[in-house]
Amino acid sequence: MDAIAEAPREVLRIVERLEEAGFDTWAVGGVVRNHLLGHDLGDWDLTTRATPREVMRLFKRTVPIGLDHGTVGVLGEDRTLFEVTTFRKDVEPMGRRAVVEFAERIEDDLARRDFTINAIAWHPLRKEFLDPFAGSDDLDRRVLRTVGEAGERFSEDVLRVLRGLRFAAAFDLTIAQDTWVALCDAVDQLDILSGERVREELLKVFGARRPSGALSLYAASGVLSFLYPEIDADADEWSLALLACDGLSASRPILRFTAVLGVSADGPGTPAERAAALMGRLRFSNADVRLVTRLLDAPPVPSAEAEEVDRRRWLSTVGPELVEPLGRLSAARARARRAVLAHPADDTVAAWRGVRATRRQRPPLTLDDLAISGDDLITLGHAPGPNFGGALQSMLDSVLDDPARNTAEHLSTMAAEILGAPAVKGGS
Ligand code: ATP
Ligand code: MG
Repeated sequence: MDAIAEAPREVLRIVERLEEAGFDTWAVGGVVRNHLLGHDLGDWDLTTRATPREVMRLFKRTVPIGLDHGTVGVLGEDRTLFEVTTFRKDVEPMGRRAVVEFAERIEDDLARRDFTINAIAWHPLRKEFLDPFAGSDDLDRRVLRTVGEAGERFSEDVLRVLRGLRFAAAFDLTIAQDTWVALCDAVDQLDILSGERVREELLKVFGARRPSGALSLYAASGVLSFLYPEIDADADEWSLALLACDGLSASRPILRFTAVLGVSADGPGTPAERAAALMGRLRFSNADVRLVTRLLDAPPVPSAEAEEVDRRRWLSTVGPELVEPLGRLSAARARARRAVLAHPADDTVAAWRGVRATRRQRPPLTLDDLAISGDDLITLGHAPGPNFGGALQSMLDSVLDDPARNTAEHLSTMAAEILGAPAVKGGS
């Protein structure tokens, strides 16, 4: 095992101070694993014998991140935040949730970690590894294995099922036989997890380089049909959805999620309704649910041969802010089809070229684009009332047919036809 050449100065400073005060302190988890894999190190997480109270006493600037879990944030001089967590051990191994208490020894702390590859410690001052579960051998052989008896470890915290599938995919690991069997057995305990914890895991999956890795393992292990029992994609449709998902940017996890939620499903309701129900169970934000349902509900883009007016109406229906994400989604799906199917029947590219050309002409598409507003109608002398909405909508309708009608003059005439003559002559 090659030593970690350089710990950031701030890490060394924090460890020195804790060690000088007599507290054994190690770097652990992702940073050590990533180093051994030759990946970017990521965040340095430290674990120490000092209690949170003692950590807070030793450092001037601290943030109580999760005192229940023993985690204190220590602000470096450069204002980066390092998580310092007190050694812990599991005291109720078979419970629904692991009950944790502070421990005296790093070995106990490593023993309660989920997978051997995540249970390697590195001492930044003494420059030594501590690897009691041979995690580095597993990394060398590319194997994912639980620390200790797999069945117990998954029932202690069933989130480890999802974490394991994510790690196996991210680092291209084979899941050890006993770990795999226990993992699959634990799938039906997933319902005890809070929606929030599952959501955060899914967002990590969809933020990874290639979500298809973890999602394929979700399918193989039964996680997929547990989380989303309605799903009924045939193999081709599912693999197209995965390809499309991978083809979208990692910075757009919700868009990638949408690509997967668009696959066929059984049961009542539209795809958008089923997606909303699933996302509600998983406590996604209302904004995310709304974005996904609008994307799934969007009518198909007009073909290249469609009339201009059809494109304007389509743009108006989906809403200008949805055009960009819909375009990306549709392009990713088209690329996936081209990669897989011998003769993709596809005019997507041409259809979108048409939509973009229409958009470049900046036709009026929304009520905001109208040359006349509700306020203008009042200024013109129309009594404010419930008819305004309908009148403006009719104006928009007419302007969508012919953008040349979008003038104050034409629309005020139209308003008078719909709402009756204004009481006083106003305006200009
Ligand atoms: P990354 O942050 O890159 O996803 P990581 O390994 O740092 O990977 P974290 O979720 O940040 O993952 O957790 C840090 C460490 O804490 C893990 O490496 C693991 O040792 C331990 N850990 C986290 N969650 C659990 C859990 N549910 N059960 C047991 N150990 C866990
Ligand atoms: Mg981490």
